[in-house]
Amino acid sequence: MTVDRDAALAAGARMADTARLLAAHGWMRATSGNLSEVVAADPLRVTVTASGLDKAELTPESVVVVDGAGLPVPVEGLAPRKPSAEAALHAHIAAATGAGAVVHVHALAAVVAGRRWPRGVRVQGLEMQKALGRAADDDLLVPVIANSQDMSELADRFDDAYDPATPGVVVADHGLYVWGKDLVQARHRTESLEWLLSFQVQTA
Ligand SMILES: [Zn+2]
Repeated sequence: MTVDRDAALAAGARMADTARLLAAHGWMRATSGNLSEVVAADPLRVTVTASGLDKAELTPESVVVVDGAGLPVPVEGLAPRKPSAEAALHAHIAAATGAGAVVHVHALAAVVAGRRWPRGVRVQGLEMQKALGRAADDDLLVPVIANSQDMSELADRFDDAYDPATPGVVVADHGLYVWGKDLVQARHRTESLEWLLSFQVQTA
């Protein structure tokens, strides 16, 4: 199944809207972070934000289609752009989790929590856990993986840490990856997970 220009631009518009909301929280400062959406399953095709753009000012055209390895796939009528450096990890997470969308932000609370609890962030007894699909009295251990500039190394660490019951992972000294069935769910989960991590950092 090929991805046409209209499908890529529609995903680009949804990603631009989502990025604006996440950037307003201060989680995508200085062009950091990126979003992706699965636009075809077999073979896997994912739209990701193009590299180096201000996430509060994306347009539908600020998009690149990549394959399962994060390599750009040309789309007729769409200007070629350089994908985000983290595109390969987005594609990997989408394939590993079956998610329809992945959000990556450099939220400060995630970085502080990852530094403080490198073996995982324990969260327990909070109503906000329900937004992650967990019960309020569940005991969550949000996985933390070590950072790397090598996306295949990060992908291996992701596979080792992945817990299907928790739709997010902290990358230590870096930020947060969260996934969902679509961008709206991935954004809501990002908002709630960041809140939970902020709570831990401020109260532990
Ligand atoms: Zn990043």
